[in-house]
Amino acid sequence: MTAPGLFWLSRDFRFADNPALAAACTDGPLLAVFCVDDLLMSQGAASRWRLEQALRAFDAALRKRTGGRGVLVLRGEPDRILPALVQNTGAQRIHQSDWPTAGMRAVQDRLRAALAPLGAGLELHGGHLLAHPAMLRSGAGTPYRVYTPFARALRQHGADRPGRDAPARITPCADDHQGLAIETLDLAPDMHRGRALLAKFALPAGAQQAEARLDTFLDQAAVYPAGRDHPDQPATSNLSEHLALGEISPRRIWAIASLRAAAEPALAPGITKFLSEVIWREFSWHLLIANPDLPTQPWRQEWSEFPWQQRTSALSRWEQAATGISLVDAGLREMRVTGRMHNRVRMVVASWLTKHMMTDWRLGLQHFADSLTDWDPAANAMNWQWVAGCGPDASPYFRIFNPVKQAEEFDKKGIYRRKWLAGFDGSAAPEAIAYHDSLPTDWHVARHWREDASDERLRGGREAALDAYNWFRSERAA
Ligand SMILES: Cc1cc2nc3c(=O)[nH]c(=O)nc-3n(C[C@H](O)[C@H](O)[C@H](O)COP(=O)(O)OP(=O)(O)OC[C@H]3O[C@@H](n4cnc5c(N)ncnc54)[C@H](O)[C@@H]3O)c2cc1C
Repeated sequence: MTAPGLFWLSRDFRFADNPALAAACTDGPLLAVFCVDDLLMSQGAASRWRLEQALRAFDAALRKRTGGRGVLVLRGEPDRILPALVQNTGAQRIHQSDWPTAGMRAVQDRLRAALAPLGAGLELHGGHLLAHPAMLRSGAGTPYRVYTPFARALRQHGADRPGRDAPARITPCADDHQGLAIETLDLAPDMHRGRALLAKFALPAGAQQAEARLDTFLDQAAVYPAGRDHPDQPATSNLSEHLALGEISPRRIWAIASLRAAAEPALAPGITKFLSEVIWREFSWHLLIANPDLPTQPWRQEWSEFPWQQRTSALSRWEQAATGISLVDAGLREMRVTGRMHNRVRMVVASWLTKHMMTDWRLGLQHFADSLTDWDPAANAMNWQWVAGCGPDASPYFRIFNPVKQAEEFDKKGIYRRKWLAGFDGSAAPEAIAYHDSLPTDWHVARHWREDASDERLRGGREAALDAYNWFRSERAA
């Protein structure tokens, strides 16, 4: 048997700009393997559900290219499964796209140790980021801590060019390994909401969808700068799930968008703004690589002393999207039903939790990590720390969003809130009803949403947060 090209599929469900897949195809007949391991099963339910959609779409596309052979899905730890495959097939190396989280690094280290006695190795390939982190360093040679100079350096350096695409026709490895059936795979048995509901409201998965979405977005990129902060307008790209799952690479987005901006100057300002958001994603990954505990520890260490509230009944109401604050509840309901939430609303929801409720940002982060289909460990952690005031280049703690004013400014006519809150303005949109259909039986949320945004609550919460902040600062100064 010819030794196969072994491709360990993990976060790169695409064929374009996928150097790991392309390298495996060069090594020999392709054996693409996906492991249902502890690391995957420890991530949030919604993002696992979404990953399953990505896997199915990739598998179907792979079958087309190979004439029938798809992904071999195996349950177990990579350091047990993959060395056995190496031994059985005579492969010399395993190709994987680099996904540099602390958890994945630990899995990779264990795998390398298990492969070494077999004389085989693990090769990591780029594609997850615009540029290799080592290429972007401050004048002092350290990782950047502030977005603006980071973005300037990245624009000067330029994004790396997209890597190789996988061939249009792929020779599959004639393996006789028995894998799990993808059609009946259930990666999110613990999902708290009806999966039929998510299937109905979530955006379609797959690399083809990602490419189409990018094209559609670029056509209307001129409205992005003015519209992107308005949850009542469809102005943003909705590419975050595709990026989180590697259904499209940021390098490819950069290359296509830059060409488009050069060809159509009217689109250029919108595309520049859009790419600056893609750089925020990049910044978050560079931060996570330099600080692997970003999701669990405040970047500014002194913030571990802040008197955060922990689990309270107010937190339960926030998780259940029943705070009585319209924009906050609308955002949390949108996330529950669709797996997504508009960026402006994410900021308001996170501010309400960390400021008015003075609740530990990590509890909010966990709820998002469990509920978002576009969950990204770096973007989620950086943004929660940014809102809470304890991250690098963070919004200062004393900048507290007033959610009522935010709603007046960004959802002037209430279009977004009407969509998500049954009872808002006496309405009951299908999306708002869908939220109620998704609730576990032990959640007692009134079917008719009621406002509870008294001036006292808004002002009182703000003042309590500022008092706590001033106390915290004076304690530190003492
Ligand atoms: C508290 C909080 C938690 C968040 N958690 C996540 C998360 O888990 N996953 C995630 O992808 N984004 C997260 N974001 C960032 C942002 O809300 C989403 O990326 C954005 O809403 C996705 O919509 P879009 O694709 O239409 O964005 P667009 O506006 O079209 O932006 C294009 C791309 O740029 C990136 N991007 C945009 N804004 C940000 C940002 N603030 N930080 C990092 N990258 C950004 C995303 O990859 C996005 O797809 C979070 C923001 C906040 C405030």
